[in-house]
This record gives sequence, structure tokens and C-alpha cells, in this order.
Amino acid sequence: MNKVAEDLVVRAGYLVDGTGRATQSNSAVWIQSGRIRALGDAPRIEQDAAPTTRRIDLGDDACLAPGLIDGHTHLSLAGDGRPYTEMFSESDEMMVLTGALNLRLHLHAGITTIREHGARNRVGFTLKDGLGRGYIPGPRMLVSGRPITCTGGHFHMCNETADGEQEIRASVRRLVHEGADYIKIMASGGGTAGTDPTRASYSVAELHAAVHEAHHFHRLTAAHCRAKESMVHAVEAGIDLMEHAEFLEPDGDLHFDPDLAQKMAESGIWISPTLQAWCRWPQVVELRRRRDTAEATPADLAELQSLETRAGGRLDVMRRMLDIVGKERIVPGTDSGVNDLAFGHLDYDLELLVEVGFTPAEALESATRVSAEAVGLQAEIGTLEVGRIADLVAFAGDPTKDISNLSNLVAVFQSGQRVL
Ligand SMILES: [Zn+2]
Repeated sequence: MNKVAEDLVVRAGYLVDGTGRATQSNSAVWIQSGRIRALGDAPRIEQDAAPTTRRIDLGDDACLAPGLIDGHTHLSLAGDGRPYTEMFSESDEMMVLTGALNLRLHLHAGITTIREHGARNRVGFTLKDGLGRGYIPGPRMLVSGRPITCTGGHFHMCNETADGEQEIRASVRRLVHEGADYIKIMASGGGTAGTDPTRASYSVAELHAAVHEAHHFHRLTAAHCRAKESMVHAVEAGIDLMEHAEFLEPDGDLHFDPDLAQKMAESGIWISPTLQAWCRWPQVVELRRRRDTAEATPADLAELQSLETRAGGRLDVMRRMLDIVGKERIVPGTDSGVNDLAFGHLDYDLELLVEVGFTPAEALESATRVSAEAVGLQAEIGTLEVGRIADLVAFAGDPTKDISNLSNLVAVFQSGQRVL
């Protein structure tokens, strides 16, 4: 990242700029000092660039697009299926190494910007520092440091416990002082033992204290909200982005609430539904593979059916929410690191957005232009336009025609440097 990017012209058979324009054919991007100097019709760009400018031709099947953004990651966790208690029994040093591996996995999947949504102690900050020094490769990182949680609350193992408005304000100040780019707060319980995902863990006043203090420092806020009660609190408190948004009630089931969805729409809150995480999509993908290659046991098939039924319920809630809140406030997030959610698969979330009614082009925009806006970087990344940072990915085929093309990467450029 410290290297000075060279001048470069990248040509491909197709280009999707992420602004909503249709796919253009035979296109090129001229990169200078890590930013987009010009883009468009390949013969014109190639003529305008100096003869000495290096050229890369990715071929007629390749499709250039803006680098992908994953707004929800946990770099310090391995995503290898172990329970939280085991993952958090690792040393901070091992968590940093886990994070270094995960950063590379995401970068090689075309993800050029991430939010790191909460790690223990200084682990998240250390990873960002290492990345900035060029010690490790990885996506551009926005870091929350440690998630703010109540005593004994979800992710209390990260060591940023705060109860009551005063302690929450102090936590925000401490995190900003240590280098937090945004504030993550746990508004309901979650998968952490002893917490209740169906109940809110903070009052509106407590969440509002976090929002007020974060905004004072020009920092955005994201709240983990599984319980419906916590969704109500987050909207009322003015949280910028709501994670999960499951409409989970104390009976343990999802109960869609159109009135709440209406309030979410009116508030303009960003919503990250973390669909692959809830739907246990990596397991579904693997079981479907076994089924299609005739390797599945009867137990596998039964498991697949039960997972598909469970996912269907969640996707139904998502469709009903979309009818009210629309697609423009929805951002995908993988929740990579927790459970068996390995890094490198934002494609799963985008496939699930298509499943609930997005066009492939809209799904791609949600992970680029819309996500850039949700994390506050819309002036720098998210679209291919003159002056933007040259974060580019190239897929083998146009992903706006077939979303599965997102899984076939040809090249990744970060700030104008080819990293894959
Ligand atoms: Zn998470």
C-alpha cells in the first residue's frame, strides 16, 4: 500500500461502472497515481494514454467492475465452525495472524474494502496498522476496534463493556481516541453464551448516547440488532446502520412487522441483513454440491431440506421488508469469521439478494455504490468514475447478466495496483 502505483491502462470486453448505467463493451480504465484518470471506449482510452503507459488486456470475456465492499467482518475469528468459547481462547497474537490470513482471502475474492466489526483488545487496530505499513496484503479497512456491549453481553470477551449512558459515552471517546473509524454497538444479545438474541440489551437512551457521541466525532454507528425490540430502539436512537434486522421475538421466531418496517423506511437507516450467516449458506452450498455429485448420504439430504426450509422463512421476511423499505438502503455483509463463515464469500450474500428480488445489477450495486455510501466513502470508492480510487475487479463474464459470474475472478486492482 505504500508503493507508488504506476500508470496503467486496463482493457476488458465489458465494464459495469456501478452507477446504474448498462454494461459497456470493449472498455478500458486509465489509472494514474492510484486513481481513475479516464475510462470508456477502449480504442479512445488507449490512444489518449501515453505510449509508455503499461497496458493490461484482460480479454474479451472479462468484465471490469468496482471493487466489492463487505460491511460486516470479524477478522480475528477463523470461521472454521468452532464455538465462540474456543475461538476466544486464542491469544491476541494468534488472532492477529488469523486476521492476516482472512484479509488475503477477502482481497482475493474481489473485496477491496471492509468494515472490521469488532475484535478483542487491540487486535483490530493492529491489523489496520499492519495493513497501512504494507506488512500484509488486504482490503482497505475501516475499523471499529472493539464492539460496545453491556455487562455479560454479546461479544463481551472483546473487553469494551459499558452500562448506562455515561459509560457508553466514555467507551465511544476511548475507541475514537484509539483510532476507531466507526462505532459498533451490540443492541441485542447474540450467539455469545448467556446472552438472549430475542431481547434488547440497551435502552433507546443508551443507544442515543452512543450515536450522539459518535456523531460528535464524525463517526458513523452500526448496531447489532437481532431482536425486534432492539430494531425499534435502534431506529428511535438514530443509529446509522442496523445489522441483521431479523424481527426476532421472545418466542424465538421471526415475526415480520410492517409498522416497524415503515419506521425503518422513514428513518433512512441502512440495513445489513447478513443473509448468508442466518441461512447458513456455506453449509447449503456444500450439501447441494454433494447432492448434485451423488455423494450425499440420506442424512445430508435431510439436513439440506431442513436448512432450505429454515432459510426460506428468513428470505420470506426479507422479501416483505423489501416491499416497504426498498432496495436502496440494503447493504450486504458476510459476518465472516463467526461460526463456519469462512472469508472470501460475499458472492453468497449477493446470490441471496437476487433470490429475494434484486436484479444481478442491483445486487452488484448494493455491494459497491450503495455500500460505499453506507460506510461514508462514497466520494472515493464504490463506482468507476473519473477521480475515484482505482479499486477494480474483473470477473469472467458479466455479473449483471448472471450473478454466478461473481464467483469467477480474473483480476483485482487495489488503488491501481494489481493484487490478483
Ligand atoms: Zn457480526
